[in-house]
Amino acid sequence: MWLKVIFVVIVGLFLYRLFGGKIPFIDKSETSKEDEHDFGKIEATSECAVCGTYMTENDALIYQKKSYCSNDCLEKIK
Ligand SMILES: [Zn+2]
Repeated sequence: MWLKVIFVVIVGLFLYRLFGGKIPFIDKSETSKEDEHDFGKIEATSECAVCGTYMTENDALIYQKKSYCSNDCLEKIK
């Protein structure tokens, strides 16, 4: 009888998690890993070779292994 009750509770918790539910004690380690990941998201910056403006590497235009802030600066070195 008790084994059946425990089995139903375990299956219930499993289904609860499957549909997006969070169990504080079990999911605690997972959430702290996510927090560490957020702190690691510091974007690298590079300096424009013409005007010296700093920008993130996502915004930089790379031409001949140098980074430029905009097409205007890129045109100046051509
Ligand atoms: Zn520039």
